[in-house]
Amino acid sequence: MKALAILGSTGSIGTSTLDIVEGLPEQFRVAALAAGSNLDRLEVQVRRYRPALVAVAREAGGRELARRLGAGGTEVCWGPEGLRRAAAESGADMVVSAIVGAAGLAPTAAAVQAGKDVALANKESLVMAGELVTREARARGVRILPVDSEHSAIFQCLGGNGARQVRRLVLTASGGPFRGRPRGTFATITPEEALRHPTWSMGKKITIDSATLMNKGLEVIEAHWLFGLPVAQVDVIIHPQSIVHSLVEFVDGSLLAQLGVPDMRVPIQYALTHPERCENAVPRLALDQMAGLTFEAVDREKFPCLDLAYAAASAGGSAPAVLNAANEVAVQQFLNHRIGFDEISTVIHKALDAHPARPLGSIQDVLEVDREVRERLEKH
Ligand code: NAD
Ligand code: MG
Repeated sequence: MKALAILGSTGSIGTSTLDIVEGLPEQFRVAALAAGSNLDRLEVQVRRYRPALVAVAREAGGRELARRLGAGGTEVCWGPEGLRRAAAESGADMVVSAIVGAAGLAPTAAAVQAGKDVALANKESLVMAGELVTREARARGVRILPVDSEHSAIFQCLGGNGARQVRRLVLTASGGPFRGRPRGTFATITPEEALRHPTWSMGKKITIDSATLMNKGLEVIEAHWLFGLPVAQVDVIIHPQSIVHSLVEFVDGSLLAQLGVPDMRVPIQYALTHPERCENAVPRLALDQMAGLTFEAVDREKFPCLDLAYAAASAGGSAPAVLNAANEVAVQQFLNHRIGFDEISTVIHKALDAHPARPLGSIQDVLEVDREVRERLEKH
């Protein structure tokens, strides 16, 4: 039986992960849970799965949860040290990294350092510190298994083939809710409109990232670190039906794709059970009911965030961490009605100009860059 530490257990990926645990009770048990501020949901989860450890982002939340749970089998901890312990010291065999944003980096790095295999949803940690995290994982023999549907698709298509035989990776993107909307009207897009994703149901931050296509930009960088190919060999194509989850083109021109219904339980489960595959209750893809699969090029002028991500990846060093921090701040400002949808890319562009790329020697350095960018943007 595999023991899991699920970081971000109250979120979209976290709850889907627990769904899988429910369906495969002989294979998985929960050693630790961690979340931000949704104490009600976390309390229900702790009572059901009885982890040895539960971590909450802030002390007040941790104390409140401890009060509600009373004396029992679960130790409650909090803050960065609490998250670190949930990732590294709960006795888990595998850590599901599903906290959203930069907050996921330190616990992901801690899991790798502790020699735990990681099922990685938190793409931001590879965007910010891909070189450091993947180098440490290699040194410790830790496996980083992709949860992101595109990367799971590529992982499956590669089937152990090294990068040598690959011409390029092709990440598919739904195009988000504004694929057909004229750029001239982007300034008037409301958060409510942007939160209505056509094919996937996800947390707020990644839903806005999908609407700007920054999500695909972050995924290009994620693919670069996971599969060891230069970003110039990672392409993006719009595929509005979200049925083909991504493709690999090999040197002989052969393309392999992975298909399925857009349901995150499939890639999450594969990360947990790899190299095995298990039955589940996910609806099957009815090929004969499908009207068609279409592909089109990205309109890169309409969605400038994608090129900003390629530029940051090429600049290297701290640039992707700057991109990520500026994006997180801009998305929050947009959700709070402080900037327009069209200004998200402007904020990121300016931040990249204001923080020239510098080398990063440690996770501490990365967190320092993240702090600097946020501080500067929040002053404005
Ligand atoms: P979400 O907003 O639904 O959930 C985020 C989780 O992180 C919650 O449990 C929240 O409590 C926790 N959290 C937030 N801040 C925290 C902090 N400071 N400390 C501890 N916990 C904290 O987000 P999501 O959609 O589940 O996405 C999670 C991650 O997975 C993101 O990195 C996202 O890019 C990635 N991802 C999500 C999907 C998806 O379908 N939802 C697909 C691919 C990748
Ligand atoms: Mg994805």
